[in-house]
Amino acid sequence: MLQSQLFTKTRKEAPKDESSKNAQLLTRAGFIHKEMAGVYTFLPLGLRVIERIKDIIREELNNIGAHEMKMTALQQKDIWEKSGRWDDEVVDDWFKTPLKNGTELGLAFTHEEVLTNIMKNYISSYKDVPVYAYQFQTKFRNELRAKSGILRGREFLMKDLYDFSLDKEEHDKFYEKMKEVYMSIFTKTGIGEQTYLTMSSGGSFSKYSFEFQTITDAGEDIIMYDENKKIAINKDDYSEEIFDDFGLKKTEFNFKEAKSVEVGDIYTLGEKYSKALGLTYKDENGEEKNVYMGSYGIGIPRLMGTIVEIFSDEKGIIWPKSVAPFDVHLIDLAQQQQAKQIYESLQENGVDVLLDDRQLRPGEKFADSDLIGIPIRIVISKKSLDQGGVEVKNRNSEESQIMSPQALIEFIKEL
Ligand code: ATP
Ligand code: MG
Repeated sequence: MLQSQLFTKTRKEAPKDESSKNAQLLTRAGFIHKEMAGVYTFLPLGLRVIERIKDIIREELNNIGAHEMKMTALQQKDIWEKSGRWDDEVVDDWFKTPLKNGTELGLAFTHEEVLTNIMKNYISSYKDVPVYAYQFQTKFRNELRAKSGILRGREFLMKDLYDFSLDKEEHDKFYEKMKEVYMSIFTKTGIGEQTYLTMSSGGSFSKYSFEFQTITDAGEDIIMYDENKKIAINKDDYSEEIFDDFGLKKTEFNFKEAKSVEVGDIYTLGEKYSKALGLTYKDENGEEKNVYMGSYGIGIPRLMGTIVEIFSDEKGIIWPKSVAPFDVHLIDLAQQQQAKQIYESLQENGVDVLLDDRQLRPGEKFADSDLIGIPIRIVISKKSLDQGGVEVKNRNSEESQIMSPQALIEFIKEL
């Protein structure tokens, strides 16, 4: 992409009404635009990051036999009444809206009921399960407070996956597999080191559920964690029993505490929704059984915001390679012909390049580049050409090296 054609501009100052680091940096760098509290537009650069995160997740989920679909945001009341979750006393963050004919609709804050209802068309025999289905969908939540930038939105993109299993045993196996899949997703997006499998309270079908909590000061939660075992307890759900229930030693947690963000969670739902909505199958003996379920969420903007909270410095964002909006930021200091050539040959080699072809002073270009945070910066200038090529530098280091255009392609391909 040519930066001269990118309509977003960077800004030196963060908006006064943004107090979180993620929203300040992402707004200044032109990744997001705030519509109102907790509601953000993802601009071209921001959308690229979202798409790269989605690709990582999609690959992991397709690998374990899950199928992508997309449900509706508008929800009919009667399905939710069956589970008891239409009631504002039960769910306090619904957005609801009247229809012209006097009835009411809801904007989905999650999709358990909806998918369970859909599955009634497709599951009737033990031969029809297990089913694993997921989507990337906008969720609406009338959150009391939305003050952490894109970490807590009133409208946000979620990946939600649901399993429809034969019984507890089959579900449990999948649930264990999902723990690994989630860890792999968080590792691939760059936050593996800071992310802990965290025990938290369960629901009617399991004593515990698991969250994936990422240590950062921006977090609203507090975890107690064991660095060696890579496991944590959500302080809200702390009980002496947890240690016994999981063969854990209290001393190993030293009671080390840290603020953290819940980037994902996995839930055993059991028969709660299948029973409420009548999703059953006939077993081998012709006996009617409830499908056994689980649900698995990841907040995509929350994950993106968490990455920014962790990977940034006083100059701007430092994207991990796997989720960066571009692989390379090519900065042209008035060597148009050669810059264009390098831009094209990088693209021909499958490298995603942002070419800064704007007529600006070098200092301004470097400041923008640091703010936007693309992991590799390549500068082409008269000086670099005199030295034999282009100057290559990682966003997170001060050192640079000169490379010939040929060596550059090889270098980047290797990365
Ligand atoms: P929280 O406790 O932070 O309010 P939750 O437990 O209610 O979250 P779930 O309903 O389990 O959230 O949603 C699944 C995932 O969606 C969460 O793990 C989180 O990553 C993300 N998420 C939840 N609420 C928001 C929000 N308001 N904005 C952005 N992401 C969210
Ligand atoms: Mg949760």
